[in-house]
Amino acid sequence: MSNLRLTALLALVVALPAPADWFSEQEIETARELRERALAGDGGFEIVADLTTRIGPRMAGTEADAKAVAWAEELLNDIGFDRVWLEPVTFDTWHREFERVTVRAPGVTEQELVSLALGFTPATPEGGIEAEVVMFEDLAALQAADAEAVEGRIVFIANRMERSRDGSTYGPAVQARSQGPQVAAEKGAEAIVIRSIGTSNNRFAHTGMTRFDDASQAIPAVAISNPDADQLERMVALGEPVTVHVEVSAVYSEPYTSHNVIAEITGSESPERIVALGAHLDSWDVGTGALDDGAGIAIITDAARLILDLDERPKRSIHVIYFAAEEIGLLGGRAWAEKHHKNFENYQLGAESDFGAGPIYEIAARVSDEAWPVIEAIQAELEPLGIELGGREASGGPDFIPSLPHGLAVVDLRQDGTDYFDYHHTDNDTLDKIDPDNLAQNSAAYAVLAWLAAQSPKDFGSGPELLEQ
Ligand code: ZN
Ligand code: ZN
Repeated sequence: MSNLRLTALLALVVALPAPADWFSEQEIETARELRERALAGDGGFEIVADLTTRIGPRMAGTEADAKAVAWAEELLNDIGFDRVWLEPVTFDTWHREFERVTVRAPGVTEQELVSLALGFTPATPEGGIEAEVVMFEDLAALQAADAEAVEGRIVFIANRMERSRDGSTYGPAVQARSQGPQVAAEKGAEAIVIRSIGTSNNRFAHTGMTRFDDASQAIPAVAISNPDADQLERMVALGEPVTVHVEVSAVYSEPYTSHNVIAEITGSESPERIVALGAHLDSWDVGTGALDDGAGIAIITDAARLILDLDERPKRSIHVIYFAAEEIGLLGGRAWAEKHHKNFENYQLGAESDFGAGPIYEIAARVSDEAWPVIEAIQAELEPLGIELGGREASGGPDFIPSLPHGLAVVDLRQDGTDYFDYHHTDNDTLDKIDPDNLAQNSAAYAVLAWLAAQSPKDFGSGPELLEQ
């Protein structure tokens, strides 16, 4: 290699700043201090313990929803955020009274199957609905079926969710819950029973939302536990007609107004520029919403509290957002996007914690090309937590999904969710499932992310231009 080319090459190498150069030594020092202090703490375990003990399940639109909002406002004020406020979110409500699924087949003793009605399913007439079962392997098989095979029957979708670390097996499996009832209704089914969308082999069912295009065509929809779905499959395999009796009592109520609860650490240099950390405050009506999403509430609050404890304020503002009504359709996230999207140039970055309390193993981000090296620099400070650099596709978490079409830049701190769907939307989502050490690892990662994002020499590219890249 000629001297000239060597010089040119060296100049190129020198021109690329090392990751740490995006931040001052002092800023990196502070990030490390935050990380160590978070790991030495309990990750906010006392916050999720208090929420799940005092409020317990807090389904959107219930009395417990209002209590959770009041609890949140008090907590965030007590911690000493610079500003705490509420933004209204109005929605239709639904609540379950009871559900019962009984199965009968020739030569088989009548048995009850453990079940949970799906969210927003209509009630059956009093006394329930009884019809012969028609079983489908998965949603696609139901979609392909002739209406004559379905009409007047009770559909059973038997698809089983597989376990995965990143939760990627949830998306394909959950279509049986989100779309199955609508498809069954269109083909004239009386009701639908699905295998729970979950990985547990315990005898409890997993609830969750379903949706109908036309409420007047809606049919009762319930999930049965994995072992009960196995039982029903075996009964069908006996070859005789199997009859299921489904009874659901559930009530639709008047529109209700809940609130997104927002707290701010006001930035010292560019207070109008915001790093937004999210989690959702509502839960399903079963369990106590510890993993989904009490853990997220604890993680982002603990991370922000550590930053508040510093002697200096970050350059940009940091918002902690407790979203309302995530479980029944990302309604808090939709309201937030609607209210703030015109100002997204100022919303630097969104990141929601809503995947339980497993350790984070990867950071991924959807940011501008110019800002990607800053994400790499942030990852370098997450490396000691076992967090690797992921790719440039990210959603920011469920409540930021409605913001993506408006170009919000987002980060995913991806958690190990291998066990998450054992508990998701069940009676078993309780505090004992949270490991405080893992929770602290999460808090450490969010504290480092929020601090460095607030100090970043570059904006992250939120706004319509991000959609074009
Ligand atoms: Zn959630
Ligand atoms: Zn959920």
